[in-house]
Amino acid sequence: MSSAVIDIPKQSDVDYRIPAVVGRSLRVPLVTGEHIGYANLDHGASAPCLEPVQSAVNELLPWYASVHRGAGFASQVCTRVYEGARDKLRTFVGARRTDSVIFTRNTTDALNLLGRALPRGTSVVVFDTEHHAALLPWSGPRVRRLPAPETPADAVAALDAALAECPEGPRLAVITGASNVTGEVWPVAELAKAARRRGARTVLDAAQLAPHRPVRIGEVDVDYVAISGHKLYAPFGAGALIGRADWLNAAEPYLAGGGATRLVQERSVSWTTGPERHEAGSPNTVGVHALAKACETLAANWADVVEHEETLLRRLRAGLRGVPGLRELRLFDADHDRVGVVSFTIDGQDPGLLAAALSAEHGIGVRDGLFCAHVATRRLLSRAGSDADRAVRVSVGLGTTAEHIDRLVNALRRLVAVDP
Ligand code: PLP
Repeated sequence: MSSAVIDIPKQSDVDYRIPAVVGRSLRVPLVTGEHIGYANLDHGASAPCLEPVQSAVNELLPWYASVHRGAGFASQVCTRVYEGARDKLRTFVGARRTDSVIFTRNTTDALNLLGRALPRGTSVVVFDTEHHAALLPWSGPRVRRLPAPETPADAVAALDAALAECPEGPRLAVITGASNVTGEVWPVAELAKAARRRGARTVLDAAQLAPHRPVRIGEVDVDYVAISGHKLYAPFGAGALIGRADWLNAAEPYLAGGGATRLVQERSVSWTTGPERHEAGSPNTVGVHALAKACETLAANWADVVEHEETLLRRLRAGLRGVPGLRELRLFDADHDRVGVVSFTIDGQDPGLLAAALSAEHGIGVRDGLFCAHVATRRLLSRAGSDADRAVRVSVGLGTTAEHIDRLVNALRRLVAVDP
């Protein structure tokens, strides 16, 4: 398969195409530290860059120029790339034709933007187990935090009951696609349906789900989706908020400055509507281009991506079950659908020391702590009967191999054996 990186304006005779490097998922090459034997088991934090994305970035760099306002050829190229990326993201999440695609720095930025754009008096319902990016952008007396549910059905019932008690006026339910602590997939479509019945809009924090599974706005029927490029195998610095335009067009601009204005006079400003309203300042064209390329690459390979991760996740969980004293964190039951993220503690072992030993002695990168979800992780530690104050998290992705998993499991068994 090959695809044009840039829709070059007609006057160019440059053949500007990427090589045909996109194949089936395991032939989608990554830019990794493979050569030094490093096992990156921290894809949930940030995923390594795909080679087609790296190529796309390299090919754009010679055209580096400002978008929208430049009359020159390079500016026209960059403007096409930038605006074309909106269409690619719209396609990636199956957005409605009328949805806005606003480029942000990441999911945190996207959710904060939405938080600032809510109509006055909006009631917000959010589970307190969310990642802080989804938990904290909402403020005021009309924010209701719900405790961790024990089953997906409990989650739907709790959301429904909370929304039923909200005062008249606009309502927003915050939904997570997949937990960054346990990888568990939330019942997004059911939650969105319950919210819709109660007249509420929904925002889906898809930071952790979108790299692993197709997220289709039309299918799950949410109103807004937030994603991060660096979790989708693109470099840092570009993300997006995609969703209904009306609240966004009516809100004060998220950033005040050039590009967001229609006309500035001595004593007045009139702001544009559309995505530019919230994108003041020179945008991250290269990052947005990389994000769009990553989305295209994943979309062309979903079946293989999912199969690869599910195979590794099964191997990982089977291996971890054989580690003495290991307690896996989870919200729902053991067989609940999840993406490739597992957090655990091991009785008698300090999670920080375990993570450090995995890195120093075995070349394995994992994460330890409370994972920017303090309430969730503490509660799940207690549910798991662990007395640790934090956990170790392992997360797999396209850069993970069976050898990485086996190395991790063997390393844990050895670490536990030498330090019983
Ligand atoms: N939501 C979830 C579920 C996450 O896992 C993360 C990052 O770990 C975020 C939101 C925030 O993403 P970012 O740091 O890219 O803004």
